[in-house]
Amino acid sequence: MNNRVHQGHLARKRFGQNFLHDSSIIDAIVAAIYPQPGQAIVEIGPGLGALTEPVAERVDEMTVIELDRDLAARLASHPFLQSKLNIVQQDAMTVDFAALSAARGQPLRVFGNLPYNISTPLMFHLFSYTHAIRDMHFMLQKEVVNRLVAGPNSKAYGRLSVMAQYYCQIIPVLEVPPASFRPAPKVDSAVVRLVPYATLPFPVKDLSKLATLTSLAFNQRRKTLRNSLGNLFSAQQLAEQGIDATLRAENVSVEHYCRLANVLAERPVSQD
Ligand code: SAM
Repeated sequence: MNNRVHQGHLARKRFGQNFLHDSSIIDAIVAAIYPQPGQAIVEIGPGLGALTEPVAERVDEMTVIELDRDLAARLASHPFLQSKLNIVQQDAMTVDFAALSAARGQPLRVFGNLPYNISTPLMFHLFSYTHAIRDMHFMLQKEVVNRLVAGPNSKAYGRLSVMAQYYCQIIPVLEVPPASFRPAPKVDSAVVRLVPYATLPFPVKDLSKLATLTSLAFNQRRKTLRNSLGNLFSAQQLAEQGIDATLRAENVSVEHYCRLANVLAERPVSQD
C-alpha cells in the first residue's frame, strides 16, 4: 500500500506527505543548511521530524509550521523536541513570515521538505517576504529545481525561472532518489538553496507588471514576441529595449523582462 503506516502515522496524500528516512541524505541536507545557535530557523512541514531532530540538536530553539494537526500534536509531546520548538499549526500559505522575522529581530532561515502539491504557490508566497528571509533550503521535485535554475534558451526556462531569479540567487544542492522517502514519490527530488538578493540586480517599479508580462509571454511560449506581447509592445518598442520581436518567450533574459516591466510601469494609466 502506498500510504502505509510509518511510526504509527498513516501518510496523508492530500498533505503531500512523503517522509524522509535516508540518514545519509538527511545528514547532507542538514550540513547544507548549516544551522547555528541564535539564528531564526523556520521549518515548513516538519512531519515526523526527520529533519527537525538533527537541526534542533544544533540550535536552542526553532519554529515549525505544520498543517496536519496530528503531526503538530506529536511534535508538541516529543521528548527531546518539545522544549525547543515553537509550533505553528497552520497552513504555511497563510503565515506572515515578516511577523515571524520581526519577532526574532533578524531575517529568517527557512527550510523544508515541501509538500509537492503546493510547492510553487508556497514559493511565490515566500518571495513576497524575501526582505525578511536570509535564505531558504527546499526539497522539491527535481523538475521544479530544474525550472528554478534554468537560464534562457532552454525548455525548462519559464515564468517560475524568471520570477524566482528576480528575487533570489539559486543554487542546486543535491539530488534525492524516490527510495529515500516513505512512501516513495513517483518522481525524483532535489534540494535547492535560494538566497534573496540584498540588492535586486534588476529592480522593477511594479511587480504586477512583471507577473503579467511573464504570464502573457510564457502562456504562448511557441509564439514569437511580436504575437504574444503584440497587444503591449510594437516590434519597434521591443527593439528599443534590445529585444528582437521574432524571438520567443524562452529567449528573453530576466533583465530584459524587467526592462519591459518598467516600460509598462511608466505608461500613463488608460482612462477606459
Ligand atoms: N519534513 C518531513 C520529512 O522530511 O520527512 C515531512 C515532509 S512531507 C513531504 C511534507 C510535510 O508538510 C508534511 O508533514 C505535511 O503534513 C506538511 N504540510 C502539507 N501541507 C502543508 C501546508 N500547507 N502548510 C504546512 N505544512 C504542510
